[in-house]
Amino acid sequence: MSVRPYRDVYRRKSRQVRVGAVLVGGDAPISVQSMTNTLTTDAAATIRQVRDLEAAGADIVRVSCPDAESTAALGEIVRAVQVPIVADIHFHYKRAIEAAEAGAACLRINPGNIGSRERVREVVRAAKDHGCSMRIGVNAGSLERDLLEKYGEPCPEAMVESALNHARILEDEDFFEFKISCKASDVFLAVAAYQSLAEVCDYPLHVGITEAGGLRAGTVKSSIGLGGLLWAGVGDTLRVSLSADPVEEVKVGFDILKSLGLRHRGVNVVSCPSCARQQFDVIKTVEVLEQRLAHITTPMTLSVIGCVVNGPGEARETDIGFTGGGNGTHQVYINGLPDHRLKDRDVVDHLVELVERKAAEIEAAEAESGAGSRTPLAAGRRILLAISEPEIVRLAAGSRHSRHYARGDPASAPGGGHDPRPGGALRLPRNVDADLRVYRGVPAAAGRDLGRGLQGDLHLHRPRR
Ligand code: SF4
Repeated sequence: MSVRPYRDVYRRKSRQVRVGAVLVGGDAPISVQSMTNTLTTDAAATIRQVRDLEAAGADIVRVSCPDAESTAALGEIVRAVQVPIVADIHFHYKRAIEAAEAGAACLRINPGNIGSRERVREVVRAAKDHGCSMRIGVNAGSLERDLLEKYGEPCPEAMVESALNHARILEDEDFFEFKISCKASDVFLAVAAYQSLAEVCDYPLHVGITEAGGLRAGTVKSSIGLGGLLWAGVGDTLRVSLSADPVEEVKVGFDILKSLGLRHRGVNVVSCPSCARQQFDVIKTVEVLEQRLAHITTPMTLSVIGCVVNGPGEARETDIGFTGGGNGTHQVYINGLPDHRLKDRDVVDHLVELVERKAAEIEAAEAESGAGSRTPLAAGRRILLAISEPEIVRLAAGSRHSRHYARGDPASAPGGGHDPRPGGALRLPRNVDADLRVYRGVPAAAGRDLGRGLQGDLHLHRPRR
């Protein structure tokens, strides 16, 4: 149970594999991947593109290795970049062995397509020797002939059977360090295939809608497909496939994860579409802000709203809020509270300055307290909360022996007290200890003002005996 249970996503339990330094599956963060579209033989161009993807936040990058010249260039590429590199191998087992030797962190290869058992064995041996994992990549467009004959057309059952057939080959070689993808350009087919696969195995799943289209249509299609899967807890790593600059794939991937609260990176801008009531040019302002704030990696929220209809309400939920006001006098909110007015100043410059300052503050606070670290609180301890909104007092207890503080319901905290007013106090029940996990705001500390904008989980424990 979390602070806001309606936002909870329960991830499917998967085993964990390693792609270089990046963990995939289990409780590892859902990683975002992309793929280069340069010639791998052009190492300099490929390195440049991988670095651009790294800067955009990519956790893992895949490069094609269609020939021996490409695997020959791979070592130089791997050495020049930070992110783990996945070598995309089609059919030739020798490319897989060369890629493993060159330092690839993962091989994208379907063992059923590379020929004899001895060849599979050689590839597995190379992977084991060089600490490589693998990805089995089933694609509706290239299903095995016998499965197409059996099922008549690409369908979820055929895709799952193909994936399990490939998996069995690796299992027979005592190799379990792999993840599986089951992609189709048809959203319904891909989603159904992933859902079925998620039920019959515990391998980590690399999710994606393949050949999704150009930037806009592909983003929409991927958001529908991946959004549905991730919301249902399916997916351990993702790639958004767009006919566009691969950097856009990474941005869209993070935006999907951000929308579902699964991962946060950079500034989450909440903005209105604008209308005749707007008191400044919302669209232009947001467009420029998104460019100017692209360098911020600290997770935080910024609302940019054209007028007071929705501005104050949105601002209350964000780190920095900006609402258009009459006579060119706009309102700035910090940590959900009105802070100052803005008139005759460049809005974008001012907001960029505020966001940069806030990001530095959050970073410093996290460095001091340890992000998400838990602070033990003694039974009976009174915690002061300088909060802006009653809702923020919703602290949910999540441990097995816990109780849940419902919003505005002091009675749900037996033995304790709960005052939902801003600045109110929460007193722990006399007979329980607690851990308070603070995600945002000032460092957690028992018995003192925890600052505005507190969000956290309160985990209560029965008394120690
Ligand atoms: S918040 Fe105001 S400016 Fe923005 S769309 Fe709504 S009414 Fe229009």
